[in-house]
Amino acid sequence: MSADSHQLEAMIRTLEGARRVILATHVNPDGDAVGSALALARTLMRAGREVVVYDRDPVPYQFRFLPLTELFVDEIPPDSRFDLAVLLDCSTPDRVGAGFAAFAGYDRLACIDHHVTNDLSAAVNLVDAEASATGELVYEVVSRMDPDFGLDVALNLYTAILTDTGSFHYSNSTPRSFVIAGELVRRGVDPWLVAQQVYECQPPGRIELIGETLRTLQRSASGAAAGVVITREVFRRTGTNAEHSDSLVNYPRSIAGVEVAFLLREEDDGRFKLSFRSRGAVNVAALAQEFGGGGHKNAAGCLLTGSAAGIVEMIFSRVDDLLGKRSAAGVSRS
Ligand code: 5GP
Ligand code: MN
Repeated sequence: MSADSHQLEAMIRTLEGARRVILATHVNPDGDAVGSALALARTLMRAGREVVVYDRDPVPYQFRFLPLTELFVDEIPPDSRFDLAVLLDCSTPDRVGAGFAAFAGYDRLACIDHHVTNDLSAAVNLVDAEASATGELVYEVVSRMDPDFGLDVALNLYTAILTDTGSFHYSNSTPRSFVIAGELVRRGVDPWLVAQQVYECQPPGRIELIGETLRTLQRSASGAAAGVVITREVFRRTGTNAEHSDSLVNYPRSIAGVEVAFLLREEDDGRFKLSFRSRGAVNVAALAQEFGGGGHKNAAGCLLTGSAAGIVEMIFSRVDDLLGKRSAAGVSRS
């Protein structure tokens, strides 16, 4: 299904009507955030707009091969003014971080996103929870605004869709995702080149981090939930940081019988970032919302305070309760 045509028209009119635009995406950006922002930035620049691309955090190592990553800034000059701010791959200025949330130097807020928890609070929204990636929605915008877009835009959009579909493994991979990816390959994207950059250029410390992380694997009484923990100490020992923990949550999810998997990652301030994944029926966006976060049905997250052991225990009992898998004696019925 392609994006709602009224929303798409309104978004294109809004973008075309603006002269100075700031594009902003979420903290700890992923491939979809980076690719969507850069593809739209390039298109607006080709249309003669002044564009600033903001993210609080650096572009992760596996996406630095993408064209135009040098456009990202992590500070907004305090006196700058924009006609339009566009949130990409997130629903609210809060998810872009406190620095952006406190910034008021724009006249209108627009949002291009595919999160089911998006509450359409921006003035102009192009939001479609059926889209595999925000990059799919940006593809609709750029192919209308600049039908002859180049390889720089195509590489960014392809990477956005590739990463948010888990290399086309996940259930969000729709016929539309494959059609768009095919069109991007037709325009010159080399799938093997992208796959090598994204998945096969890992720094050695990341492999050590994987080893340390797997040693923390725990499963709930029923075996339906499993999780791993990364502390600041482990990051320090392996010379890695949050950008190297991407996709490690897929290990606990890959265990037979696991329906909800999580990765608990200690942040610099001692709080814990929780990444939830599910397969099948469990809606982890609803689970993450219980703890003040959000996301998609099968991938969601939130920020928590407390001890790692306490949080793990709390999640295990919540998930086992949710799935009706905890007997009075605490013994699995499955
Ligand atoms: P990840 O686990 O890869 O960081 O995030 C998975 C999904 O959950 C992403 O789509 C992301 O936007 C969403 N998500 C992760 N953390 C948070 C959070 O703290 N708040 C909200 N609202 N969404 C989150
Ligand atoms: Mn996304």
